[in-house]
Amino acid sequence: MKIHEHCAREIFRKYGVPIPPDGLATTPDEAKAIAEKLGGQVVIKAQVLVGGRGKAGGVKLANSPDEAYEKASRILGMDLKGLKVEKVLVAKAVDIQREYYIGITLDRDRKKHVVIASPAGGVDIEEVAEKTPEKIGKVWIDPAYGLHQYECRKMLFEVGFEPQVAAKAAAFIQKLYKCVIDNDCSLAEINPLVLSPDGQIWAIDAKINLDDSGLYRHPELKALRESEDTDPLEREAHNRGLTYVRLEDGNVGIIGNGAGLVMATMDEVKRLGKGIAKPANFLDIGGGAQAEVVKNALEVVLMDPNVQAVLINVFGGITRCDEVAKGILQAIEGIELKVPIIIRLAGTNEAEGRAIMKGSRLEVAETLDQAAGKIVEWVSSRVTS
Ligand code: GDP
Ligand code: MN
Repeated sequence: MKIHEHCAREIFRKYGVPIPPDGLATTPDEAKAIAEKLGGQVVIKAQVLVGGRGKAGGVKLANSPDEAYEKASRILGMDLKGLKVEKVLVAKAVDIQREYYIGITLDRDRKKHVVIASPAGGVDIEEVAEKTPEKIGKVWIDPAYGLHQYECRKMLFEVGFEPQVAAKAAAFIQKLYKCVIDNDCSLAEINPLVLSPDGQIWAIDAKINLDDSGLYRHPELKALRESEDTDPLEREAHNRGLTYVRLEDGNVGIIGNGAGLVMATMDEVKRLGKGIAKPANFLDIGGGAQAEVVKNALEVVLMDPNVQAVLINVFGGITRCDEVAKGILQAIEGIELKVPIIIRLAGTNEAEGRAIMKGSRLEVAETLDQAAGKIVEWVSSRVTS
C-alpha cells in the first residue's frame, strides 16, 4: 500500500528524521495561511500517489504567501499523471547545496533488507542504476546482527558521499531502518536527501510503501487507506476483501481463480481484442471461490460503467467445477446483469459444472479461446451497432 508524502513525513518525524516543517492545504487560502506561519520561502507539493511530481509540474517554490496562494491555485485541481490533485503540502523550503538518494527496501533474492544510497539524488534512481551503476551503493542487513553504522559509513564514503555527510547520513539510515522494521514498510525512500549550505541534512521528500500483509499489525496505518484518494472501485473491492486492480480504458471485466490464470485471461482478451476489447480489471477470487466471494466479485466488476462484457475463467483443481458452478448460480441470484457474461469452466468435474450452468443467464465456454472470442464478438457488435 502506498501512502501520501505528508503521511510518510509524519512517520519519519517520529523516528527523528529531520524533515522541514509543513502543513496540508486543500485551498489556496489555506496554503497562503501556512506559508505565512512558516515564513520565508516555501515549496508547494501536490499530494498524489505518483512519483516524478517535480518534472510533471506538481512541485513549485514560492517566495511569499501571495505567491504560495498563486502556485497552490495552479497545482490544486490539476491532473497529474491521471490523478486529480486535491491536496497540497506547503513546506518550509530548504536551500539545496547537493542532493542524495537514500532508501531501504526488501531484496527478495537475498531475503534481506537492503540499504541503497547514491550521491546522485533528486533524479530518477532507476535511471542512475542503469546508466551509472557505480554511483549506487548497497548494504544488505542481516536481521540477526542488525545494521551497523560503520557499514553504512563505509558504503556511503565509497560511493562518493563527502565524509562529514556520510557520517550524518549513516546515523540517518539507522532511524530509517527502525522505521522500516516497526511499521512493516516494503519501501522507505528519501529522494532527495539534501545538504544545505549550513552543513545540515534534510529529507525534503518522503516515500513509504507498506507491506499489505503486515497491515493487520498497524490499525493506525490501515486507517490511512480509507483516507487515500485511490480509485473508488478499488477501495470498494478492498473493503470487500477482494484482490482487484482497475485498468484504464478497458471494457471487459475479468474474474478468475489464481493470479496467473487471471493475468493469462487478460492477455488473451487483449490479444484477440484487436484494440476494441480490452481488459478492464484484474480480479482474483482465489482458490475457494465460495458463492459470497463470487457475488462480491461480480458486483464490483459490474459497478465499473466501462464494462461491456464479463469473462469468468475458472480452473477447477482442488475446488471442483460443479462447486464453483453452484456458487456462481447462487451469486447471480438477485443481481441485475446488464451486460453479457461468459464463463469458462475447466478441470475437475468440468462436465458436471457446465451442466449446472446450462439454462442459466450465463453463457458457457469450454476453452479460454472460445470465451475470449465470444467476448470480442459482443464488444465489437456493441461498438458497430
Ligand atoms: P518528486 O518529483 O515527486 O520526487 O518530488 P520531490 O519532493 O522530490 O521534489 C522534486 C524536486 O523539487 C526536488 O528534486 C527539488 O529539486 C525540488 N524541491 C523540492 N523541495 C524543495 C525545497 O525545499 N527547496 C528547493 N530548493 N527545491 C525543492
Ligand atoms: Mn522525490
